Amino acid sequence: MLPIDLSGKRAFVAGIADDNGYGWGIAVALAQAGASVCVGTWPPVYSLFTKSLDRNKFETALPGGGELKFEKIYPLDAAFDTLEDVPADVRENPRWKDVPNYTIQECADVFKKDLGEKSLDILVHSLANGPEVKKPLLETSRKGYLMAVSSSAYSLVSLVQRFGPLMRPGGSVVSLTYMASERVVPGYGGGMSSAKAALESDTRVLAFEAGRKYGIRVNTISAGPLASRAAKAIGTIEIMVDYYKKNSALPECNTAADVGHTAAFVCSALGAGITGTTMYVDKGYHSMGMNPDALTLLQTPATT
Ligand code: NAD
Repeated sequence: MLPIDLSGKRAFVAGIADDNGYGWGIAVALAQAGASVCVGTWPPVYSLFTKSLDRNKFETALPGGGELKFEKIYPLDAAFDTLEDVPADVRENPRWKDVPNYTIQECADVFKKDLGEKSLDILVHSLANGPEVKKPLLETSRKGYLMAVSSSAYSLVSLVQRFGPLMRPGGSVVSLTYMASERVVPGYGGGMSSAKAALESDTRVLAFEAGRKYGIRVNTISAGPLASRAAKAIGTIEIMVDYYKKNSALPECNTAADVGHTAAFVCSALGAGITGTTMYVDKGYHSMGMNPDALTLLQTPATT
């Protein structure tokens, strides 16, 4: 047997606030493989998430036995590198004000203080935010576009800058991207498609730079649609899931567990030769040239 064995490894998953998204699916798979999992949660939802965990609101049973228990849960706002970057209105906002040390630098500092100099093996970036995601690119403001790229793409660069030094050689970084980076997906607006294109390009460059500097690998998973909390904000997610089910190479939609298993594999020693790569976990949707749905159109005689 060739097992995925992450026992003795520690992961930090940035971008979990409930049990519906890809971050949770990845945390489950990493824990199943034996890793200890720490979490970074966005300040506005930090209190709700930790309280919901305490009240057993989430499905924490691990497939095959055991329970998902987080080693630490840190507040993290990946839009800010240091406290000086946080505008006064955010700093004074009650949703941030009562939460300590949430910038990326502060979070890395607290992580290091809690867990030690070289204490991290796996860094997962499972977060995105595009305030104008519902707007077509043609109507997106400069501010909205830059916020999408800042929160959803530069955040990976900043996390690797600040957590990279804490990672043990052989460690692995993985993020989540979407095929709208390379093909037009109507409805995925506000500069989010640009942010995902940047994320994929940065994955290649970081794989080289952090590979040479820290001996770690950097990959991104291009996942199909999932009705997560963030995706529901786009407004078309149910249509997308249905469309993928009908039109992927395999006539179904990927699950968070599919993505979790791929992340666990690529972060394990079995993925030691893989870096700088965009890996599709979308039941083969990305490889289709003409979608089966179109056949129904071809079979319908034109009326004019
Ligand atoms: P999700 O709601 O589970 O995760 C998004 C997380 O980002 C949330 O926990 C939210 O609190 C967090 N977040 C937002 N802004 C933040 C900030 N500034 N700092 C820190 N955290 C912040 O939704 P998800 O769909 O699982 O998203 C996870 C990743 O998967 C994202 O990168 C997303 O683009 C990607 N993805 C999602 C889909 C999909 O259809 N759901 C498809 C492909 C890729």
